[in-house]
Amino acid sequence: MTNLIELLRYDFPDINFSPSNTFYWSPLSRTIHYIESNNSNRAKWALLHEVSHAILNHKSYENDLELLTMEALAWQKAQEISIKYDINIDYEHIQNCLDTYRNWLHLRSTCPSCGIRTLQIKSNHYRCHNCHTEWKVTSAKFCRPYRKINSQNKKSLDQLDQVTFV
Ligand SMILES: [Zn+2]
Ligand SMILES: [Zn+2]
Repeated sequence: MTNLIELLRYDFPDINFSPSNTFYWSPLSRTIHYIESNNSNRAKWALLHEVSHAILNHKSYENDLELLTMEALAWQKAQEISIKYDINIDYEHIQNCLDTYRNWLHLRSTCPSCGIRTLQIKSNHYRCHNCHTEWKVTSAKFCRPYRKINSQNKKSLDQLDQVTFV
């Protein structure tokens, strides 16, 4: 992992890399968080995927479908750049990751009253075109917006709602 990180740091000097307990891209600080101790292929694929979010400059999304599209684009880009690092990203792995998002989207967009698949009307808000039920969904699982308030009440990056990509 250390070797790959060093190569990526060299190739992408405008991206920060920071050891963490999970893999994600934080657009606000332009930082890729990664698990330093993990040397598995999956970890390398995850790292290239996060780098791809960074290359594609993914910052935010309007709705769930857009997030799914961004995830697919990030994997596509990861496959492109993987050649340079002599890494072969498993196609099944990519499909499994995207399936997780597809299932998530399916659950969120299915009407709790009549079971029909509907369209999102705005962020975290769905309405059924069949029975007009409306429901809200959280942004919890795949985007992790959070708000930190510090006691001095001064403005800092941490105070802003932050969208991240996994
Ligand atoms: Zn319905
Ligand atoms: Zn992603």
